[in-house]
Amino acid sequence: MFKTLNALVLREVRYKEADRILTLLTDTDGKLTVKARGALRKSSRTAAATQQLTYSEMTLFGNRGKYTVNEATVKEGFEGLRGDMEKLALAAYFAECMEALSVEDQPEPALLQLGLNCLYALSRDLHPQEKIKAAFETRLMCLAGYAPELGACPVCGREPEAPALSLDHGCACCRGCPGMGEKAELGPAGLAAMRFLSEAPAKQLLSFKLPDADLLRLSDASERYLLRRTERGFSTLDYWKNLRNYTHMGKKL
Ligand SMILES: [Zn+2]
Repeated sequence: MFKTLNALVLREVRYKEADRILTLLTDTDGKLTVKARGALRKSSRTAAATQQLTYSEMTLFGNRGKYTVNEATVKEGFEGLRGDMEKLALAAYFAECMEALSVEDQPEPALLQLGLNCLYALSRDLHPQEKIKAAFETRLMCLAGYAPELGACPVCGREPEAPALSLDHGCACCRGCPGMGEKAELGPAGLAAMRFLSEAPAKQLLSFKLPDADLLRLSDASERYLLRRTERGFSTLDYWKNLRNYTHMGKKL
């Protein structure tokens, strides 16, 4: 049985001499594991389209629940990511997050669109990396059912003063209000940006503006919130942070 779909390659693993095992996020079938026979051969017609972080149209042959790639054509190669270690590391982190938070046999068009939009912006340097990262992480949490409560502070009932994000309770609160567990600083601008990211139409997600200091704080808060909710680490994130700290010590974003 053949089926044609659009797929973002989240992960590729070499298998045997020249095959690839791919983890895909597809438009119709959610997450899917497929085999691409001979994709590592120089003469392979599917080599480019089955690379990690490529968005491709694929025709798959399915037999008893196992799929192999029959044909594949690149729709968007995100060329700007290749050859730039920082961008590639951040993109790989996005892919690792999408793999961790998607499920098989369940189409997730909003998740796929979020991934494609962020990879596109990253590959073309449309925004600072911290901004794309914060937008991706915040929106991903919302799509995965972990949307933070960003209204009034649950302790004092007022608009949060010196706003922070309670990592334990998944809500905004005042820096000074007690009993909210571990907090990440947001500041008023960071809270406004997080509210925007929770509700903005997908295509306008990256249209917010923040000064660098607020952006760094937001990126830190969204990251710690994601790590807390997923209860795991991401080696790709650690790698990106090491690269970023090294090249940007004391410099602007
Ligand atoms: Zn309060």
